Amino acid sequence: MSEAGAPPTRCMHLDMDTFFVSVERLMDPSLNGRPVIVGGTPFQRGVVAGCSREARRYGVHSAMPLRQAYECCPQAVFLHPNFTHYAEYSDRVAEMLEDSVPVLEKASIDEFYLDISGCGRVLGEEEGWGHRLKRSITGELQLPLTYGIARNKLVAKVATNVGKGHGDLRVPDGREADFLAPHRVRILPGVGEVMERDLLGMGMPRIGSIARLPMQLFTNMFGKHGRALHEHSRGIDYAPVLPYRRQKSLGAEHTYLEDVLDPRAMTATLKQLAQRVGHDLRGKGFLTRSVTVKLRYADFVTATKTLHCDYTNADHTLYRMAERIFQSLYTRRVRVRLLGISTSDLSEDYGQLFLFEEEEEKFDGLYTGLDDIRRRFGKGAITYGSVLEQKQEESRRRCA
Ligand SMILES: [Mg+2]
Repeated sequence: MSEAGAPPTRCMHLDMDTFFVSVERLMDPSLNGRPVIVGGTPFQRGVVAGCSREARRYGVHSAMPLRQAYECCPQAVFLHPNFTHYAEYSDRVAEMLEDSVPVLEKASIDEFYLDISGCGRVLGEEEGWGHRLKRSITGELQLPLTYGIARNKLVAKVATNVGKGHGDLRVPDGREADFLAPHRVRILPGVGEVMERDLLGMGMPRIGSIARLPMQLFTNMFGKHGRALHEHSRGIDYAPVLPYRRQKSLGAEHTYLEDVLDPRAMTATLKQLAQRVGHDLRGKGFLTRSVTVKLRYADFVTATKTLHCDYTNADHTLYRMAERIFQSLYTRRVRVRLLGISTSDLSEDYGQLFLFEEEEEKFDGLYTGLDDIRRRFGKGAITYGSVLEQKQEESRRRCA
């Protein structure tokens, strides 16, 4: 096993095949064999989040505007993305992988790196182990996947992409450059449309042609990206596999200086706590689907209750949930000493892709702005009017 932060000496990259479509097909087997496009309805603003191989045959690809995808393949089944389900299955894959290797990195919702350096004695022969791992995941979860094994992350990822639809690949130690050489430059991570065009313009359609030339040529052209490009073309990559630590919960509490009886004060506190928790969730890139409110009365009797919702990290949703829980929790006419909100069942937020709900889209811009203000001017820099009133009230009481 390599030390934390050290590059692996043997690495597996694993990618779920047409992940969103595969999950949709689990839930609705009538989608099998049909062109499926996940992203939304064809006449919606938005892009393709995922599509089946049948749809790809018509030229549809990820990130293509939905309207355009419809023109390519009008007979496709168009589906709204179901983030909750994708995240659940992603977590289940991660759990199975975590059980089998010491260091796992979750690179995205459907992509994983496994550091298997020096694991030969434990795992046994690499090829057989890879097959068994794949069989156990596809058997248990009924989700297809492709993997690649190589010395480092870069070559393992390329091996997966090359192997898609053909079979899983292993690149023997020392054969990295030979393996990469015949492939088109675009397959290298970090080579986008612009760089590809420049390289084609220089007469370099294949990775091998980059590897043969001196690095200087590429640093002159692309700066530090040129250095990375040249190293990558020779199969060199020092990136470590970053261990994936699942955060279980995230929350915030407030203890009153003086126990309170006024429900408005408590509501204001809940709003403030929801803001803090929302801010922290977004800052750490998490979504939650379980909200718990903790209420401690002046006599230290403590009550908690949890409600579940669709994955969210929006202040207003957290607050709405907390308020509902609070209403059912606050049953005694006794002063309250502490209120807390905590969130659990966390999942990584995979970004814009899932913000298709109009409401979410509207609020997304708002929270990005609010988070920015709070980062620059402090967490208390911006808040609801009712929270502010409550704070002023508290400080008046403190001073009195
Ligand atoms: Mg995938």
